[in-house]
Amino acid sequence: MNSETTAIVKRLLDSPKNIVVTGHKNPDGDAVGSCLGMSYFLNSLGHKANVIMPNDFPDFLKWIPGCAEIVVHEQNVEKSLELIRGVDIVFTLDFNSLARTGDLQKYLKESNADFVMIDHHQAPDNYAVAMYSDVTMSSTSEMVYHFMDALGKLEAISVEIATQLYTGIMTDTGSFRFPATTATTHRVIAHLIEAGAKNATIHQKVYDTNSRDRMKLLGAALKNLNILPEYHTAYISLTQKELDTYNFKKGDTEGFVNYALSVKDVKFAVIFIENKQENIVKISFRSKGGFSVNDFARNHYNGGGHINAAGGRSSKSLSETITEFITILPSYKKELSHVS
Ligand code: 5GP
Ligand code: MN
Repeated sequence: MNSETTAIVKRLLDSPKNIVVTGHKNPDGDAVGSCLGMSYFLNSLGHKANVIMPNDFPDFLKWIPGCAEIVVHEQNVEKSLELIRGVDIVFTLDFNSLARTGDLQKYLKESNADFVMIDHHQAPDNYAVAMYSDVTMSSTSEMVYHFMDALGKLEAISVEIATQLYTGIMTDTGSFRFPATTATTHRVIAHLIEAGAKNATIHQKVYDTNSRDRMKLLGAALKNLNILPEYHTAYISLTQKELDTYNFKKGDTEGFVNYALSVKDVKFAVIFIENKQENIVKISFRSKGGFSVNDFARNHYNGGGHINAAGGRSSKSLSETITEFITILPSYKKELSHVS
């Protein structure tokens, strides 16, 4: 975090403040970990910080210290608005545009609070008085650590904060294997373990909680795997019927797209998930090397994210969405034709 942003933040935090910390809709491990870590840190400095999430988060994160105190806007609008009403500062973590907060955005936009953004997604909007945006970072949770460091307060890292941040970094880096994982990321992780994060336990709590239904759903997804060798592309689809058959719960499809990306010579992988309730197809894109799924999602699917991981949606039917996707691919043939 640069000295200018650090100075602004120090000034904002020079007396006790009422603070809301919020993440993006469909919060993932990094959103939950970074928001909880930040709120624990701010409370340790004598502020009154609460976490609001736009909607619920997956069960495999429902053990993280402090997660029971998160106010889920969709489930408790009254409490969420009460917190936003009295707030001096809003920390927005792990997203680049207030539109990413779904129904919450309206109330955030109406607020007179000072906004602080901490995020690693591409193309951030300009709504914050202090903006710590770095697209090279592994995760927002790693950025929260650097934020604490910039304020000279690393000694505030408790076992809880170490656990929250470790979980966020671990989930956003695919357990420290994605390219944005740096030597610095590992140094941060080492410090978090020294501060009390139980690495093996955290891995088990996040990854070894598969239900029978989720494994069956994975089986259905893998049956639907298609490979287009010409484009070094693989895609998976899941219909609402398949999701219903296996009692789909939020988070169940997390990571499925990585199986498509793990196929030899594939460098572009996609999963299409039908959502009859919202009348959309939710799409996740992943890539290896220089092919920017952020651009692809932005150009065709009203989405975005990072170079190698992005999301978007289509309002066409599932089969139309897939047909359309296949017709778009030839215009990327050159970019996709060389395996790097
Ligand atoms: P996922 O595919 O796991 O939903 O998301 C992959 C990455 O892209 C995450 O960093 C997520 O925050 C981002 N992302 C997912 N959906 C969208 C979207 O609709 N718009 C933007 N801007 N980013 C998204
Ligand atoms: Mn993230």
